[in-house]
Amino acid sequence: MTSPLALLGGNPVITQAGPHFSWPPLDEQSEAAIIGQLRHSISIYDRAGVVERLEEALCDYHGVTHAVLTSSGTAALHSMYSASGLGPGDEVIVPAYTFFATVTPLLHLGATPVLADCDESGNLDSRDVARRITERTKAVVVTHIWGVPAAMQALKAVIDEHSLMLLEDASHAHGASIDGQRAGTFGRAAAFSMNGPKPLSAGEGGFVLTDDDEVYYRVLVHSQYNKRCRNELPSDHPLYDYAVTGMGLKFRIHPLAAAIALDQLGRLDHYLIGRAETADYLRERLSELPGIVAPELPVGVRASWYGLPLQYATNELDGLPVERFYEALQAEGCREVDRPGSTCPLNLLPLFQRPETLFPGYASKLSYSPRDFPNAEAIHRNTLKLPVWHRQEDRSLVDSYIHAFRKVTANYHALIG
Ligand SMILES: *Cc1c(COP(=O)(O)O)cnc(C)c1O
Repeated sequence: MTSPLALLGGNPVITQAGPHFSWPPLDEQSEAAIIGQLRHSISIYDRAGVVERLEEALCDYHGVTHAVLTSSGTAALHSMYSASGLGPGDEVIVPAYTFFATVTPLLHLGATPVLADCDESGNLDSRDVARRITERTKAVVVTHIWGVPAAMQALKAVIDEHSLMLLEDASHAHGASIDGQRAGTFGRAAAFSMNGPKPLSAGEGGFVLTDDDEVYYRVLVHSQYNKRCRNELPSDHPLYDYAVTGMGLKFRIHPLAAAIALDQLGRLDHYLIGRAETADYLRERLSELPGIVAPELPVGVRASWYGLPLQYATNELDGLPVERFYEALQAEGCREVDRPGSTCPLNLLPLFQRPETLFPGYASKLSYSPRDFPNAEAIHRNTLKLPVWHRQEDRSLVDSYIHAFRKVTANYHALIG
């Protein structure tokens, strides 16, 4: 008997050509915003025009005092770390499971990243953080992976107990919150990416948030030299002497990117409401299936659902390898199901195993190996990530993805052996 599974010659559930998901959603209003900016100015040297409007809108949205736009999230992280005074001799506890750019800017500052394992949500585990604190530890960086907020209460307890600085990489988590408190407002400062697929997108861009005036001034000095520093640093500030050159880096955002992000920010909450509905719908239906564990949110927690990270449980399907399960879904036409590649436990990357080829100063400081972070590695291996559509019109597509998951789990026996 032949199998109905597409991988074994049957008909696929989804025949609609891809892509099935694209981000950000741009419409005529976005185009008008871009054209308007194009006609007005495409180079802004100070906190004026669309840069000022977007920074103010980000401050309002998050309820913080300062926002500084940057050319990327990586740049925002670099400036945030520099402005937080992190440098040689400092240890910074970071998630082992994150996108590598959470950590790489620290290597350019001479600080030592200390990786820590995650809990079952994929976010930093406060118990492992506590184990890795030494007298040189200065800060802890939290990523809210795939837009699901980390367990901030437990993390803050450890961080406060040891008087450490809390910094956030909220690049997945625009608008996510815990009891109404938004990601990016929990620590001394936060950095966000606004790269293409991020919940708030500028195409390319990023920003730093902080309530701390000194961090703000130092972010400007780090990477927004000359006009911004001259305009915004108080003239009696000790750094004012350096206003013209700053530290010599320029990480300004492109005004067209800022125009896109300002347009998108006005709709972010609408996107997140739609995503929450789809995520609930998917979680309810997929978590019933053997082999699939859907993420659960504690009461009061709202995710931005940058992705829906499902965990594959091979033991519930007689040991069927995740690779085979994934192949079967792809064959059914689920082209948006993703096994994340570059967002992976950092100990699996050569840069964190043998950094000395690129960063000679780290020869004896970083030498991670596979198997150092068992939770992160298991979660990474078993993650099947789905996009979370925000539009009601996409519900039939969502239904066909669910149908494909049902079909593969119902017929998994044919894939074994
Ligand atoms: C995307 C991302 C970054 C890097 O942001 P870019 O804008 O691509 O430079 C950093 N950290 C995390 C967690 C990200 O997802």
